[in-house]
Amino acid sequence: MGGVDVIVVGGRPAGAALAARLASGGASVLLLDRARFPSLPAVPSSPILYPSAMGELDALGVPSEAYDRPEARMRSLMFQFHPWWHTVIPVPDLRGRDYVVGVDRRELDDAIRVRASATPGCESREGWSVRDLVRDADGRVCGVVAAGEDGREERIDAGCVIGADGRFSLVARKAGAPVVDERLEHTSTVWYADWEGVGADCTGEVSGQVVTTGRGLDVLFFKMPGGRTSVNVHARSDRAASGGDAQGAYRATLDALPPVAARLAGARQVSRVVGVKRVGNGYRQAWGPGWALVGDALHYKDPVDGQGIRDALVGARLLAAALLDWREGRPWEEAMARYEAAVRDNTHAMYVATTERLKRELYDEPPVPVIRTLIRWWMTDRTYQDRFLRYLNRELPPDGWVTPRLLAGASVRGLGRDLASLFGR
Ligand SMILES: Cc1cc2nc3c(=O)[nH]c(=O)nc-3n(C[C@H](O)[C@H](O)[C@H](O)COP(=O)(O)OP(=O)(O)OC[C@H]3O[C@@H](n4cnc5c(N)ncnc54)[C@H](O)[C@@H]3O)c2cc1C
Repeated sequence: MGGVDVIVVGGRPAGAALAARLASGGASVLLLDRARFPSLPAVPSSPILYPSAMGELDALGVPSEAYDRPEARMRSLMFQFHPWWHTVIPVPDLRGRDYVVGVDRRELDDAIRVRASATPGCESREGWSVRDLVRDADGRVCGVVAAGEDGREERIDAGCVIGADGRFSLVARKAGAPVVDERLEHTSTVWYADWEGVGADCTGEVSGQVVTTGRGLDVLFFKMPGGRTSVNVHARSDRAASGGDAQGAYRATLDALPPVAARLAGARQVSRVVGVKRVGNGYRQAWGPGWALVGDALHYKDPVDGQGIRDALVGARLLAAALLDWREGRPWEEAMARYEAAVRDNTHAMYVATTERLKRELYDEPPVPVIRTLIRWWMTDRTYQDRFLRYLNRELPPDGWVTPRLLAGASVRGLGRDLASLFGR
């Protein structure tokens, strides 16, 4: 085997975390990204992080001061079912942090990449675009062809090549990794931009907010570093045609929703609208001879649950362990099969929950009496709210956090509150 032990293509959460862990474990790593840093990812992302993701970053040795800005912490999230009711969901203590945070991807991605570059054994090259994979006589991937910014191509050899190059992965395409378990029936289209001067919601708070119509449209407000607010439109994709004018469609959608228009009345949009149409949901085959995928290259899904970065970091941790085992002598097939099983075990139930949530919240249109009773009783119930956030923080199983007992209890408590307020108690 010539060259380095591992070439990692893509230097954001998945790739940089993987490179840092591999180099810390004694492997020689070349981390290639066509972007220069700090920069926003080419596939737009308006991220919030739950403490589960921050815990992964702590374990990796990425200093939280680099991305966790006090002004972007959200200690409560206001949920408004327009035009019927609203509730404020306090963020409980989630593994030592009682907030979710809006992050600037420029800062976050650069902090992880700096952590990787600072590890002896890791060479990081920016502005290098991988164009092809190199295979040996047996068809095993053993390197890449990459081009620098001057267009000059170089062949680089390695023991294996990892695609951490995002949801439109070139490594997956060149390796011939098929898509498996794709769910495209209920997809969303997302548009967002940053704003300054966003006003308070109807409770008087300037914090995170989700406005939902129950009719295929949500608008989400997230606090961001520097006092900005990210305002996101999340709509069922079959109704979100922009006619080529994303800015016009974005503003028209915001203006048409009174609680959103009220918060934006004195505000200024300070970035251009970006987004993704018909956000895909799926997995790809995880590995083959001499190659493997991690992060969005392996598993991509709708951003509604805000799990992408956490999953990329966990995937990197699992793949690093498998690759270090392989380097110690475990057969490639065995190490990779264990990796694939571990990632699936860690992400698949959440994937199912996210795709079911998309259907339920964007495509099913509950009757108004149900929105005004059952859904309100559940969403305003403190036990339900606490379990909802613990599920998003991956402390409760995605397929087990809602139980018939929870719903029955929340319904009884909600009905009790309604009766008490009806009779003035
Ligand atoms: C609209 C939207 C909103 C989202 N919001 C959230 C959120 O709130 N919270 C959350 O946790 N997640 C969110 N996500 C998901 C999150 O952005 C991704 O899960 C995360 O970025 C995946 O990280 P990654 O390292 O796998 O890939 P990416 O971040 O996509 O990085 C891939 C890297 O590979 C490089 N690359 C690609 N091709 C090549 C090549 N040929 N040669 C060299 N380099 C290459 C790219 O330049 C890029 O730097 C959102 C996603 C979308 C689409």
